[in-house]
Amino acid sequence: MATERTFSILKPDATKRNLTGAVNAVIEKAGLRIVGQRRIQMSRAQAEKFYEVHKERPFFGELVDFMISGPVVVQVLEGENAIARYREVMGATNPANADEGTIRKTFSESVGENTVHGSDSAENAKLEIAQFFQDSDIVG
Ligand code: ADP
Ligand code: MG
Repeated sequence: MATERTFSILKPDATKRNLTGAVNAVIEKAGLRIVGQRRIQMSRAQAEKFYEVHKERPFFGELVDFMISGPVVVQVLEGENAIARYREVMGATNPANADEGTIRKTFSESVGENTVHGSDSAENAKLEIAQFFQDSDIVG
């Protein structure tokens, strides 16, 4: 296993409910280090670009509206096998199917408003980090 970086978003349902600290505690407890973090209001154009791969899906409009409905916290997480590890810690996309102890099982209220995003591959992690961070804003 190698040290990797992955891209994370604490979504608007997390910021609205003051859960960013609670979610970060789960992330850190799982051995992932938060090496970059910024609270932003995503623009519609940024959200559409970020979720471009889903643009033909029926939930795309709803997803973009949700992602710009309030502030988000964008993060870079670092650790052993960070991409797969964070997907494990997040839990299944639909919180109803997520394992006990995962972020989505613990905090999420629906498949759409599911609290966190995490990259699904090394290639996407790199692209997603580059969309929101400059190298100088990541301190490992
Ligand atoms: P993940 O975030 O687990 O990688 P996907 O990449 O499949 O999941 O979907 C991206 C995001 O789109 C999800 O996190 C969720 O916010 C939203 N989404 C996925 N499926 C649905 C759905 N059936 N209805 C509404 N929103 C959805
Ligand atoms: Mg995905």
